[in-house]
Amino acid sequence: MERLRDSNEFIGGFIPRKQRAKILIGFLGISILVLSLRLFSLQVMKASYYKRISDENRIRLVPLQAPRGIITDQNGRVITFNRPSYTVFLIPYEVKNLDFVAERLAPLLNLDLSTLKERLKANWSRRYEPIKLKKDVDFKTICVIEEQNQDLPGVIYQVEQIRRYPDCGWAGHVLGYVRELSKEELSSDSVSSAEKSDFSESTSLKLSPAERRGYRPGGYIGRKGVEKQYDDLLRGKEGGTFLEITAAGKIIGPLEDREPDLPVKGTDIKLTLDLDLQVEAESALMNYESAAVVAIDPANGEILALVSKPGFDANLLAGALSSAEWNEILQNPLHPLLSRTVQATYAPGSTLKLLTAAIALESGIANKNTYLAPCNGSYRFGRRTFRCWRPEGHGRLNLVDAIIHSCDVYFYQLGLKVGLEEWCRYAKLCGFAEKVGVDLPDEVKGFVPSLEYYNKKYGKGEWVKNLVINLSIGQGEILVTPLQMASFYCGLATDGTIYRPHILKEITSPDGRVSIAQSEVWRHLPFSSATLGVLKEAMVGVVNDKDGTGVLAQIPDVTVAGKTGTAQNPHGEDHAWFVGYAPAKDPKIVVAVVMENIGHGGTFAAPVAKRIIDKYLKRGIVAERADSVLAGDTP
Ligand SMILES: [Zn+2]
Repeated sequence: MERLRDSNEFIGGFIPRKQRAKILIGFLGISILVLSLRLFSLQVMKASYYKRISDENRIRLVPLQAPRGIITDQNGRVITFNRPSYTVFLIPYEVKNLDFVAERLAPLLNLDLSTLKERLKANWSRRYEPIKLKKDVDFKTICVIEEQNQDLPGVIYQVEQIRRYPDCGWAGHVLGYVRELSKEELSSDSVSSAEKSDFSESTSLKLSPAERRGYRPGGYIGRKGVEKQYDDLLRGKEGGTFLEITAAGKIIGPLEDREPDLPVKGTDIKLTLDLDLQVEAESALMNYESAAVVAIDPANGEILALVSKPGFDANLLAGALSSAEWNEILQNPLHPLLSRTVQATYAPGSTLKLLTAAIALESGIANKNTYLAPCNGSYRFGRRTFRCWRPEGHGRLNLVDAIIHSCDVYFYQLGLKVGLEEWCRYAKLCGFAEKVGVDLPDEVKGFVPSLEYYNKKYGKGEWVKNLVINLSIGQGEILVTPLQMASFYCGLATDGTIYRPHILKEITSPDGRVSIAQSEVWRHLPFSSATLGVLKEAMVGVVNDKDGTGVLAQIPDVTVAGKTGTAQNPHGEDHAWFVGYAPAKDPKIVVAVVMENIGHGGTFAAPVAKRIIDKYLKRGIVAERADSVLAGDTP
């Protein structure tokens, strides 16, 4: 109250002299306090901040590359390693005439002169900072640069480790590749400085999530495949050495009070992939443009081979790729960067007739000897006629024979008995429309329709029955990935247990510790062993009966089981499918093959599956030969 009155008096100007002096002293006191607090803040609380700012003008961090972990197949054969390469830089400070140097360098480095000049001009103001001219320059060119160093002032080169992938582009989609991170990619998602890591403390005040994980501009990041999936393991930890520089950026020398941070090597990765089998699968598809193969050990979910065609040359993508080359890849109508095994979805065609059969068996709608109306080449339902693939018809068939001959008319009738809702419910229980959860990036989940989906799309009505006719033979709205199809057959080949497909077998950390990846069950098919027994009998018949649709998958002395499919494709020729396993009694391998726009599954996909199965079951004989072929190309 007292203070309030004083202040009123002050405003009114009626202040006694004694009190005025007190107020003046009070003001002075407050001012000194404010100044002191400000000084305290500047000198003490923000000292580290200002020191850092000062350090940034004085210190340059030169990264020390960490050797990336190597990747081997399940037998320890090296499939991806590091090799030294030369990167050429130019330091503007040492160059008197930009045009003169650019004109000499462009032909030497095989660069476009105007592009080179533009890049140099854009970076010319930072006089002391090396401008990267070209990566992966061959040794011969480096020798020329050495010879002409008098005429090429400011041109320097540095040895960098770059990735070496198998030639011919095989296994490209499994392995992926590494590429340099651009500044734009790094900063696309910035976060507050409070969350930053120790590593980058002296280099940046605001860090993106990528930077917090230890990435920096010009560093490498895994793209696609195993390189992307296990990038955090493979890349290790980059180190750095500290240089003292002037405010203008000129290097004085190594920073005296700071030891270099030594890089930590990346973790080595052993895949479940079988190199012999991968080569065989790639060779079997040599003459085809677009196709996918998945081979899995059904006993544990280990992926033995994985092919997606067209592939890409990972060495090219990881090296010095021109923008013209990159655009050519992006504009290729066959989409070589699409990993068809996990990212592409297809109508499964008749390979999914086993699902319709399994539902009918499990629900008691049919048994193995159930006969339906004979096939005369087509089936009339309502006002529509649905055709069998065999125009002359199959006549009278039971369930097992209908699978062996892949009779569409039998399955139209069976699908109608099962009903749309039940069919879709079982499809989902079997894992369709769900990601398998493989340890590879960008897996998609496919699609299984539902009654609600159709009601929304077409409105309620009798059409529902037409739709199940299509679904029962793997056509219509259903879409699956080759990996899902292989997984489903892993369940059919065993007692219904499906292990989660995976590509990682074990890792070896830089200190030599080995950790083995554990297999885990993904799901159990909702079918009894009696139901699975009927399907198995039929799948053996598909390949081994003289009239079976899959006879081209036969292997002498080995009983192969499986199912063909010829999936209609609205964009062109039919896609050919074969999914099968062997030996029938004790399956060691499940193979799914899909070949785009080519025709019958039995004609094209079955022989490819046969080659892969044959190779795998007899691999002991050929492993030595593959070793000798590889030996010259490993570090
Ligand atoms: Zn038929």
